[in-house]
Amino acid sequence: MSASTSGELAGKVAIVTGAGSGIGFAIAQLFAEHGAAVAINYLSSGKDADELAQKIERDGGNAVALQADVSSKPAVESLVASVVDRFGKLDVLVNNAGIEQSQPLLEIDEENWDRTIAVDLKGPFLCLQAAGRQMRRGDGGSIINISSIHEDFPFPGFTPYAAAKGGLRMLMRNASLELAPYKIRVNNIAPGAIATPINAATLANPAKVERLQQIVPLQRMGKPEEVAQVALFLASERSSYVTGSTYYVDGGIVQHAEAL
Ligand code: NAP
Repeated sequence: MSASTSGELAGKVAIVTGAGSGIGFAIAQLFAEHGAAVAINYLSSGKDADELAQKIERDGGNAVALQADVSSKPAVESLVASVVDRFGKLDVLVNNAGIEQSQPLLEIDEENWDRTIAVDLKGPFLCLQAAGRQMRRGDGGSIINISSIHEDFPFPGFTPYAAAKGGLRMLMRNASLELAPYKIRVNNIAPGAIATPINAATLANPAKVERLQQIVPLQRMGKPEEVAQVALFLASERSSYVTGSTYYVDGGIVQHAEAL
């Protein structure tokens, strides 16, 4: 099976991790609409990932839902191998899978620290390495990490998350230099407050939503589709001279540099 022949990503093959919900789901959907063959990775959202893959195929695209825990090296290697086996190559990786758990700094337990770093930092590294090795054999590629405004700005109560996203910033910057000779571009997208399941507690609390509306210059939370548009740009040839950068999709909130 090959990728589609029309659209901005026609002929491209993409993996989106954590694509059974939220931002990853929107990215996988948009990439498919623009002609990419898409591997929809998930951990527990198998039903939603399968339904998205089936919808893309019904609409004439190419997609597959594949389970893998991004923190497991064998699982990641098997994910990349399955995609290459099915679609023949790999052009785009979106490191989107991520978790967060709130604990005050002095109460953070080892399990929270280890799991958050494993999913949010080691996972993108494992995926980048496996995908990069594959892209090096081909015509290069584009690797996009969904980091966070907290790759740069503190997030009290979420230290493991901020440490992982800060690490993801330096992973991206190092990788952009080491992989440039192979024509592999590496960039980050740093979302602000986006309405997805990861923010379920905030979305269920009208006072918090109102507070966000007050401190976000554009006066609202973002939509997953708005993050996906920037991912489309970074995946496409329109960004052919872009590497080593972070793109904020945050409604202007970092201009306040205020902890949420
Ligand atoms: P979400 O809907 O909770 O999505 C997170 C996804 O990560 C889920 O689909 C989940 O998969 C997947 N995941 C978790 N652990 C995984 C693992 N070990 N292996 C594979 N997949 C795993 O929340 P989201 O907002 O779309 O988050 C997507 C990314 O955006 C995250 O990296 C997050 O840090 C980042 N981000 C979000 C915001 C925001 O405001 N929403 C802001 C800044 C950054 P399953 O459901 O299949 O278990």
